[in-house]
Order: sequence, then C-alpha cells, then structure tokens
Amino acid sequence: MSDDSETTARPLRIAVVGAGPAGFFATDALVKDTSIEASVDLFERWPTPYGLVREGVAPDHQSIKGVTRIFDRVLQHPRVRYFGNVCFGEDVTRQDLTELYDQVLYAVGAQTDRRMGIPGEDLAGSWPATEFVRWYNGQPECADLAFDLSVERAVVVGNGNVAVDVARILLTDPDVLALSDIADHALEALRQSQVREVVMLGRRGPAQAKFTNVELKEFGTLDGVDVDVAPEELELDLDSAGAAGDRRVARNLEILRDYAAREPATAPRRLRFRFHVSPVELLSADDSVGAVRLERNRLVRGSDGYLNAEGTGEYETLEAGLVLRSVGYRGVALPDVPFDDSRGVIPNRLGRLLTSPDGEQAPGEYAVGWIKRGPSGVIGTNKACAVETVASMIEDAEQMPVESGGAVGPDAILAVLSERCPDYVTADDWRRLDEAETERGKSEGRPRVKVVRVDEMLNLMRKRVEG
Ligand code: NAP
Repeated sequence: MSDDSETTARPLRIAVVGAGPAGFFATDALVKDTSIEASVDLFERWPTPYGLVREGVAPDHQSIKGVTRIFDRVLQHPRVRYFGNVCFGEDVTRQDLTELYDQVLYAVGAQTDRRMGIPGEDLAGSWPATEFVRWYNGQPECADLAFDLSVERAVVVGNGNVAVDVARILLTDPDVLALSDIADHALEALRQSQVREVVMLGRRGPAQAKFTNVELKEFGTLDGVDVDVAPEELELDLDSAGAAGDRRVARNLEILRDYAAREPATAPRRLRFRFHVSPVELLSADDSVGAVRLERNRLVRGSDGYLNAEGTGEYETLEAGLVLRSVGYRGVALPDVPFDDSRGVIPNRLGRLLTSPDGEQAPGEYAVGWIKRGPSGVIGTNKACAVETVASMIEDAEQMPVESGGAVGPDAILAVLSERCPDYVTADDWRRLDEAETERGKSEGRPRVKVVRVDEMLNLMRKRVEG
C-alpha cells in the first residue's frame, strides 16, 4: 500500500473464516507482509484451532503435526485475534463480516466426502473414510460414531493417502497407537478389533495410485502385518508404463513389487492391494454390509488424455463386514457465499472470489486452501496457495476504497459475538485447553490426551463453570 494512501491511517482489517492450515498460512503471510499493516481475526466453528492438523492427520504421524508450532506463533502475533466456537452462517454471517472488515478470506476446507453412487452405499457398515478419520482423531461431531470392528475383513475403497491412513490405523498394533494422541474411544475400540484383513481397492492400476512413497512404504514396517499384492496385479499396460517415468510412480511400483515378492502371509494381520477393480454394489447381510460386488476394469484413454477405468463386465464378490469409502473429500457451500457445485469449490481467480465460475469478482472476498482449489496436496501445499491469495489481497488493498468495512473498528465484532455466541473462545482459552491436554498426556507418555466433547473443552478453557 502506498504511503500517501488514506488507508494507511489504520490497519487493514481482515476476517479469516476457518482456522485450519490454509487459514493459518494466509494469516501468517498477511501479518508478515511489510507493504501493509494487516490485523486478522481468525474465526473457527470448533473451540480448537488447526483444522485437518488436529482432525485429519493420522495420530501416528506426529511429525506432520509439528507445523502447529508455526501456527502457535501466529496466534501470539499482536495483530491476530482468534475467535473459536463461532459458526459462520449462524453466529456471524457473510453480511456481518463484509460490513465489519475490509476483506474476508474463506479458508473452510472440504467438509464432506465424495460419494461412489452405487447401490448399497448407505448400508450400515459402509462409512465415508473421512468419518472414520474424524472419529479416531477425536473430532467432537464424530466422537459417538460406532464402527463395528468385530468383522474379520474390511475393505477400503480408493488409492489416496487417506485410504492408506485408515488402512494403517485398522492394522497397527493398538499398543503403538496408545503412544499417540489418538482419541481414547478409538483406541479402546481398536483394542477390541477383530479385523484381520484390510483389502484396498484401486479402480485403476498401481501406476495411477495417488498415495505417496513414504506412506506406501510404511505398511512394510508395521509389526504383525503382512502386505500382499499379486504380481499379476502389477503388470502394466503400455500407457501406464509411460507413467512409470514419474519418480513417485516408479518408486511406488518398486515398493509394490517388493511386497509382491515377499513370502506368503504368516502374520496375524494382512493388507491386500487389489487394482483395476471397482465396487459396483454393496451387498447386505443381516441389514448391514456383508460383501462388495466388484467389476474388473481396463484402462481407456479419454479424449482429454486421461486414463479412465472402464468396466469389463467381469464380476466377483468379496466378503467384507466393513467398508470405508475413501474416494476423496468435497467442499460444502457456505451460507450465502457463491459456490461452484460441479467442482465443490468457491469460484475464484487467483483466490479472488467470483460471483459464479464465469462471473465478476466480489470485491473484498477471497478463498484459500481446499475450498479454493479442491481437496489435493499435503498440509504444506496450502502455504503456496496462501501466498497466491494473499498477493491478490494485498494488490486489491492498494485500490481499497476508504469507506470499506474495517473502518468501524476492531471492537464492533466483539459486540456481535458477545450477543450471538457468548461462548466464543480466544487464543488464551485455547492455550489453557492445549496445556490441559498435553498435561494429561504426560503421565501416559503421549503427546496429548484429546478432549472430544465441546462442553468439556469449554470447561477446561474456563469459559464455563462445571455443573
Ligand atoms: P485422493 O488423493 O484424491 O485419492 C482419492 C482416491 O479415490 C483415488 O485413488 C481415486 O481414484 C479414488 N476414487 C475416486 N472416486 C472413486 C470411485 N468412484 N470408485 C473408486 N475409487 C475412486 O484423495 P484423498 O486420499 O482423500 O486425499 C486428499 C488429499 O490429502 C491428497 O492430496 C492426499 O495426498 C492428502 N493427504 C496426505 C496425507 C499425507 O501426507 N500423509 C494423508 C492424508 C491425505 P482415481 O485416481 O481413479 O480418481
């Protein structure tokens, strides 16, 4: 912002909706930028911040959670305020935020799962993997879900890193998980688990699998788990052999070939990879899933150059009492905010919110993270994504009319929150809960013991008196 601009008289006031990785990376970039003086209010619908780092990243992947050290520093910045337990669309609306801030940034991620669209998908025992993930990570909304783990075989549909995570959690020795921050209810259920085999289904071939090398290799290191893949499943067609030139794909194939060459299974638990198969129906047994009907696929190159899975008309039935559908996340429309339903994202150009996919820019509103670009990439990918959106925000700030929303001052939102959601929490409140969780973890040699009830969270944040 130029020095002679009238807007330099006060900081640029920005509301960020969603305190996950994308919201934090964007907030960090905004307050660090030296060409503007931005003050950021970070809104989050749960009392706890960090989004997918808390509720998505697998509990046995603690090193990935180290990124919260950066986020903690952001929360301590004097020009950042955190307002948790505030629901966008209920407690604060789009209109409130556009009236009270100069700019509004949506960073809400992808809140639901994609569907397979096959008969039987909603049978008991068939779950979106995203719910299983939130359950074992102690997300309050999923804490009471009851997964039937008394079955011997589970099927995981999909070949992404979420499929890998859920398969690994089902197979890992609970004594190992007990050293992590897995939710206590999940640990208890996994201790009783009878699941002996997890079959992971890829609708395309091993060269098209989306999981990454480190995650794939980790299966081979799990105690008490054999990894099984039939060598013929790894034969590549000519088109796929080309993809093997890609380093990630080539390494994945190497790891899978190593698994295929291993001695026949003797360990108590087993992971089996199947490729080129699509579930076409979930079959019921006693009102819940009993088996998956599979169709064998071949790869066909579409006119766009993409290799698609096409059914061959050959079918088989695989018995399974638990199905976790891990076929990708999907963004959900925010109340009153434009949404591109076909892609499950907020329509945008370089992060600038558009009124429709081909529409005009809605001045002062932006998107970042999965709700901007779709559910792809790792936590760190959101940093580059944030840099792009923040560049658009700063460029626009230089053109900002002096009468834009932030002129009402920083206290106006406090009045709105106190009236509509007096249980809103701040960074200090979160710090108290954080300390209580880590303190509880210490005696058990764990990084933390997660609190999974909102009421208990608020009690520990000393927002409410226990009654
Ligand atoms: P993803 O990587 O997009 O994988 C989705 C998988 O579902 C693909 O194998 C896809 O196959 C398959 N699929 C989609 N529709 C299907 C259908 N109708 N029937 C059968 N299979 C279907 O998504 P994700 O696993 O949810 O992961 C989301 C993002 O988070 C990814 O970028 C991932 O890397 C990241 N993540 C990273 C980590 C980590 O770093 N450890 C952990 C978890 C997640 P096609 O390829 O044929 O479409």
